[in-house]
Amino acid sequence: MIIQFKQPVNQAIMQEILRKLKEAHYHGILVKHHLVIFDVDHLDLNQREQAAVAQVITKQPRYVLGSRVFQPEDTIIRTAHNQIGGANFTVMAGPCSVENQAMITELAAKVKTAGATVIRGGAFKPRTSPYDFQGLGETGLRYLRAAADEQGLDVITEVMSEAEIGIAAPYTDIFQIGARNMQNFDLLKAVGKAGKPVALKRGLAATIDEMLNAAEYIAAQGNLQIILVERGIRSFDSTYTRNVLDVGAIAVLRKLSHYPVIVDPSHASGHADLVASLAKAGVAAGAQGMLVEVHQDPAKALSDAAQQLTPAAFAPLVQQVQQIHALVQEPMQGPANSTSVMKKNVEAHD
Ligand code: PEP
Ligand code: MN
Repeated sequence: MIIQFKQPVNQAIMQEILRKLKEAHYHGILVKHHLVIFDVDHLDLNQREQAAVAQVITKQPRYVLGSRVFQPEDTIIRTAHNQIGGANFTVMAGPCSVENQAMITELAAKVKTAGATVIRGGAFKPRTSPYDFQGLGETGLRYLRAAADEQGLDVITEVMSEAEIGIAAPYTDIFQIGARNMQNFDLLKAVGKAGKPVALKRGLAATIDEMLNAAEYIAAQGNLQIILVERGIRSFDSTYTRNVLDVGAIAVLRKLSHYPVIVDPSHASGHADLVASLAKAGVAAGAQGMLVEVHQDPAKALSDAAQQLTPAAFAPLVQQVQQIHALVQEPMQGPANSTSVMKKNVEAHD
């Protein structure tokens, strides 16, 4: 149940309702001017209390804070160089891993020229084998930050543990929680407390509800600056694609949640020659940005060599997806206009 208070909130009445709830052993949380109460669908409010309330919602999903029931309008995340979500389209690009300073410095310039406004690069890598390259750690983060600052870009980078959140915090603008950690609940709670935007990747075999509930762990810490990333899920056939990009999930997440939704066609496809097709499909389905792996010499990359684009292949893709994004935005932005155009057409036929 959600009690939405009129603004400015009558603090005395709100505390009175909270006290009532506590006495009845109900669990409630206060977010903005809403009081969310779990496992309750009815609460007796006296006249004074009712007068302080704008509306009472009795049906909401378990991931209440991330739902459009709680917040109908899109969340827009503001960073130093970006507004992510809403009608904006955000391009995040860079190598799978930061390998050395020269490569990340050069790539930052190249992806910026192509239209990216966020640079990615892993310094802590979740590799399938412990013998594979594990990332440069804090040294990599230093290179990444310096390259981003030189170009005026935001940074996104993955963290896999609470300790890494502390190490990465001074260097990054957005924390990435990887697919393998989507349900690492202690990590989600910790990153929720870190006070910076979080890009949450869909788990390898996670349902949409599981993903939204994972996001709720972050939100429940008071951090609603969340970006949902569809990066493909495991299925029975990985012969030609590494994962299966769930294009439908992008549309569903946009419908159910107010958080920005972006597509990662690199990890979904696993093959550089398929990245553009999947990126375009994701954007057509409503993605508000894309996260793409780019490397100047993909064949020599220390991780995810097969799926990284060269800067030369990346640049035209940005142009194409921006056009697709503009095209699919139109009906959402202009219902009033399209009605008036329709009316005019009808009149013209009269
Ligand atoms: C990555 O972004 O390099 C990565 C490991 O992604 P995912 O968690 O989606 O596999
Ligand atoms: Mn990767």
